[in-house]
Amino acid sequence: MNRLNGSRLRLARARRGWSASRLAREMNVTLRTVQRWEREEVDPTDESVTEIARLLDFRRGFFYGEDVEHLAAQNVSFRALSKMSAGARDGAISAGRIGTEIGRWIQEHYVVPTEDLPTLTGYDPEMAAGVMRARWGLGDAPIPNVLHLLEAHGIRVFGMDPNIQHVDAFSFTSKFGAVIFLNTSKTGERQRFDLAHELGHLVLHQEAGAATPRATESEAHGFAASFLMPRSDVVAQPLWRAGMQTVLHAKGRWRVSAMALAHRLRELGMLTEWSYRDLCISLSKEGYRTKEDFRPIVPESSILFKKLLGSEPARSEFMSLAEELGLTDREFKRYVFGLFPTSIDGGDSVGKLSREGRDSRDADSQTPRLRVVKG
Ligand SMILES: [Zn+2]
Repeated sequence: MNRLNGSRLRLARARRGWSASRLAREMNVTLRTVQRWEREEVDPTDESVTEIARLLDFRRGFFYGEDVEHLAAQNVSFRALSKMSAGARDGAISAGRIGTEIGRWIQEHYVVPTEDLPTLTGYDPEMAAGVMRARWGLGDAPIPNVLHLLEAHGIRVFGMDPNIQHVDAFSFTSKFGAVIFLNTSKTGERQRFDLAHELGHLVLHQEAGAATPRATESEAHGFAASFLMPRSDVVAQPLWRAGMQTVLHAKGRWRVSAMALAHRLRELGMLTEWSYRDLCISLSKEGYRTKEDFRPIVPESSILFKKLLGSEPARSEFMSLAEELGLTDREFKRYVFGLFPTSIDGGDSVGKLSREGRDSRDADSQTPRLRVVKG
């Protein structure tokens, strides 16, 4: 029998935001015992491993795998880092590390698109957005489905654990490729913008020595706005000095929030500072800072997970293979939360956010095709 991998025990514990003392308490052992397990000075008994797995909600096999790739906090883009507690940040980074394991594993077992992501460090955000559109053959047209687009270019998108609060999205590159975690509790418009924002981080900020956090945030924001609403397409629309009703009717073209469109119009000089402020006040009064009551879009869903989990026997096969990762079904579901309707073990929370049947509505002939072939 292999020895328990101490670094995986630490990872599983951090994933739940548990300190070593908490684990010791729950296990009814001393802190020193947990520390010695984690340093691999002592191997826990079989019964202890079963109990650890139960408490931390992993399969026993998880604790006997190879080391999991590390992610340095400074390499992960957190939009709201300051609002996070250390435990929450550890939890998110741990989710990120496990996400890379899932991504790597999918890549090893299936033929999926390879990553097509240039490094554009130092580019002006608008220019970088133009380069990405050209590279991916998008022209100036609105993007029907950002999530499908990213997946088709080899970027792995995971849902964020609903327990991780205050974070819209975060992204990082790992040895196996680029990864984005998305908070799927926001509006569909916000989720698209967040994905484009993280794409901005991935192309602009992955090299060392990037700008200050504040500057990188504003660059990623500028990238997202330009990527979703290209200058040439926006200025060609009758939106000069647009009022609230015009903006509400126009936002559907780019599938963005009313606020994001208003901001873009201001940025492109199509609204004066004065009329922009008026517009923001009117939109705020109507609740458009957090909601999109007028013709809201359906949130996008993952085409990759649809192919892997969307029908039998692919799903059963995928889930039995996924046991190799050492993740319980419940833990696995957290990584597709809100991106795909799952009822892997009879279904609980995730199933309630069902998006079944929505794919056909939000799919579009312009969506690049994603091929998943088992290898
Ligand atoms: Zn950001």
